[in-house]
Amino acid sequence: MHPLRPHRTPLPGVLAFLPLLALAACATAPPSDHGTISERTAASAAALCEHRVPGDVCVLCHPELAADFKASGDWCGEHAVPESQCYRCHPDLTFEPLPILRDGADLAVITRGGADVPDLGAHLAPGKVTVFDFFAAWCVPCRQVDAHLFAVLNARDDVAVRKLDLSSWDTPLAKRHLAGVTEIPYLIVFDADGRRVAAITGLDLAALDRAIADATQTEDQP
Ligand SMILES: [Zn+2]
Ligand SMILES: [Zn+2]
Repeated sequence: MHPLRPHRTPLPGVLAFLPLLALAACATAPPSDHGTISERTAASAAALCEHRVPGDVCVLCHPELAADFKASGDWCGEHAVPESQCYRCHPDLTFEPLPILRDGADLAVITRGGADVPDLGAHLAPGKVTVFDFFAAWCVPCRQVDAHLFAVLNARDDVAVRKLDLSSWDTPLAKRHLAGVTEIPYLIVFDADGRRVAAITGLDLAALDRAIADATQTEDQP
């Protein structure tokens, strides 16, 4: 398992060089080969280059950007590209543009940087199915959830999405809402009456669709 997969893991990088340590027990421990995926690559809206990365931030196209990525900790030393651009470490990376949200789509980011949200109930959308989406910039599969939920929001007025930026596993937000949860994306679905219908751990878009359907059905019952 790669240390930067969105699971709870020991310290990033430790697993990666355990075999090296075994081979070279007398050598000084090498620095970690892997960094942290930042939002910098995904934030670009530029067209993709031949490396399937937004062209204006691709380090293979623009080697002069490497220093900045390294300085921010977003660097894969093993493959000499930013961690956020390393398809060899993260084969499911994608920078395909997200669907454009229509006016009126009910999406809000309710916390960033892992700041605590004591009561999810305060953020329910009245009369709608509400999906709470716990994500992080370094979570590669979270972008697939975004693409899926954007399509749902574009098709339906009775669904709202509330995004919560976990930032890391050590933040107050994570400690309150993800105790015992081992993986993100993590989604909690409530029906229009504020009843919790389901929680989905990991990338499972079919389970997400089922939960939204279940939450929609419960609205019709007294
Ligand atoms: Zn490129
Ligand atoms: Zn890599």
